[in-house]
Amino acid sequence: MTNGQKQQLIRDRAAALLADGAVSCIVGWRQTRFAGKTAVCFVRAPEDATLLVWNEYTIPLTAKYLADERWTGGKAGILARGCDSKAINRLLRDNQLEREKLYIVGLPCEGKADERCRPCRQKTPLVYDELLWEEDSAADGGGTSAADADAPGRGRFFRADEVSALGIDARYDYWEDVYARCIRCYACRNACPVCSCRECYVDMHRAGFQSKRQNAADNRVFGVTRAFHVGDRCIECGECERVCPMGLPILGQTQKVIQTAEALAGAPYEAGLNAEDENFLGKFDLDDKDAFM
Ligand code: SF4
Ligand code: SF4
Repeated sequence: MTNGQKQQLIRDRAAALLADGAVSCIVGWRQTRFAGKTAVCFVRAPEDATLLVWNEYTIPLTAKYLADERWTGGKAGILARGCDSKAINRLLRDNQLEREKLYIVGLPCEGKADERCRPCRQKTPLVYDELLWEEDSAADGGGTSAADADAPGRGRFFRADEVSALGIDARYDYWEDVYARCIRCYACRNACPVCSCRECYVDMHRAGFQSKRQNAADNRVFGVTRAFHVGDRCIECGECERVCPMGLPILGQTQKVIQTAEALAGAPYEAGLNAEDENFLGKFDLDDKDAFM
């Protein structure tokens, strides 16, 4: 099936769901005025379903946009790929969404034109009410390929591996340079489906340990705090890095947290695979070896 055929299926289904009153809106993607750039949109009338698009540039995550929709009546419809479904699971786990107020239209993804999508292992959604088509495992939707996902420097933790390959001093300089360029716009936090606190410490008048000043030291505090706060809940979608206006390679931080968690546990770990799992770093046992337990 071509992207054009899939797009038509999406539009037809969205129009039918809205016309039936099954959902009050459909959260999907529309074209922007920039070639190769789509944006998340809310479609609320059947005749507007023709705005919805599906192509190699339908990259932004849809799930976080639902956070405000939970306060409205009716069910919200959402177009969800594998990454969106992991985000939905995380938002459900964090009590940011209610499953009975969602109608999830699952869209198996063929890969997108973004290097951060390359290691994706979840092309078919994990949670959905209906699936519009089956996954085509041979498909390559634009610059992504399952075949090279495990090649050196192109695997699941590709960004963390780049930094790990540097010596210890070079690594320090690397992060110094990154956070000297951060403008603390908080786009990374805003786009992240896991950063869902209604009030973030960075917006407080006095956080106590980080000022409002934009300087390298306070930027570093923000970067490290964000990475550990998201930490084991990160679904590896890459949205934080994708939206950074300064082009900072911050995905390496959360990849490193997950990579280290896996190494410590000696077991595979991936957030968002269901809506019930305990957070890896939040688990403890009275038999844990650390003396403070
Ligand atoms: S999006 Fe980039 S520039 Fe903005 S706060 Fe995050 S790291 Fe800094
Ligand atoms: S990759 Fe970035 S945006 Fe996505 S869940 Fe992890 S920290 Fe949040």
